Amino acid sequence: MTTTATTNTSNTKKKLENTEKKDSDHNNNNNNKIANNKKQTTTKAVALLSGGLDSNLAIRMVQELGVEVEAIAVKTPFCDFDCGKGCGHRVQEVALELGIKLKTVYFGEEYLKMLKNPKYGYGSGMNPCIDCRSMMYNAAKEHMEKTGADFIITGEVLGQRPMSQNGNALKIIENETQTNRKIVRPLSFRHLPLTEAESKGLIKREKMGDIKGRSRKVQLQLAKKFDISDPPNAAGGCLLTDPAFSIRIRDLYDHTKEGIPDMNDIELLKIGRHFRLSNNTKLIVGRNKIENEILDSLKLDDDIIIEVSNYVGPTCLVRTKNRSSSSLSSSLPPTPSEKEIEIAASTALRYSDSPKDKLSNVRIKSVGHDEKEIQVFPIDNQVLDKLRI
Ligand code: SF4
Repeated sequence: MTTTATTNTSNTKKKLENTEKKDSDHNNNNNNKIANNKKQTTTKAVALLSGGLDSNLAIRMVQELGVEVEAIAVKTPFCDFDCGKGCGHRVQEVALELGIKLKTVYFGEEYLKMLKNPKYGYGSGMNPCIDCRSMMYNAAKEHMEKTGADFIITGEVLGQRPMSQNGNALKIIENETQTNRKIVRPLSFRHLPLTEAESKGLIKREKMGDIKGRSRKVQLQLAKKFDISDPPNAAGGCLLTDPAFSIRIRDLYDHTKEGIPDMNDIELLKIGRHFRLSNNTKLIVGRNKIENEILDSLKLDDDIIIEVSNYVGPTCLVRTKNRSSSSLSSSLPPTPSEKEIEIAASTALRYSDSPKDKLSNVRIKSVGHDEKEIQVFPIDNQVLDKLRI
């Protein structure tokens, strides 16, 4: 009897344990289901955030629908977040205000390669907007796929920018990046074709904008509605749309026959006065103390630094590239001709406190060589103007 009772007790215990296990499994399943349902019901989007007003508004409009947003900020070599000139320097501040995660993507060499020969050409300056936007879309698409987001948001406004924000350009960029119907542009949404987010009921057309063209009136009204104080100006910080900078970058690419310019060449373009002394040689003259210091920090081993000896004057950098491969001395580092050094030295004097009608001393410094001094007159303004890039 004792044995049977023990067996019965043991069976009952086992039954209880099984029931408890079933309950626990059931609860776990329910929890998983709830978690999965939650996962499925949270709509997620990746936004391209520039720090300007439009992308800020676009995100807020979508956030109002309960969509969870993460942002990508793209930095090209020509759009400096920290320069304080464009809107890009505000990007982190804006992400913080919006309460969203921010990932910064840096384009380097691949951007310089694209800029040499963009598939869809340039805008009014050296701006390859369609190819550039395609690279940005690709970065956003990659992040969307990685994070399991449902769509991409941009602050694009139909007809706002001639090259990249017209219906045809938007279609080209989507085709190039295979993001068709995945891009939600809240500001112009009602003027644009159906997106996947709308067909799935994730975005309501009537809640979206119908802005078109270059006026910023509606954006400023929306800024008020969303309590955005001090909305930034529309002017972007892309140097490639700047006419003077475009001439410099064109000159650089025209004189870089093989390969592409490097990041050091690009950084040099952003400072100083530039002069083309020959196909292979250019001169950059610092305009103030900070630029003089930057020039010094950007100099490479083959560069020559020129400074005025006895008067206050600029730092000048002479860079020679693309020595002909047929040259007998092609194995030597590229060097400027004596005539080019003389022109550079007299240009240094032109921007110094030295007397304009007398010979003055100028120091020539290069890595691996003794410093030397030459005597020259300041260059004539008319001669110099012809060399200016
Ligand atoms: S303006 Fe500059 S950053 Fe903007 S799309 Fe054009 S090339 Fe790219």
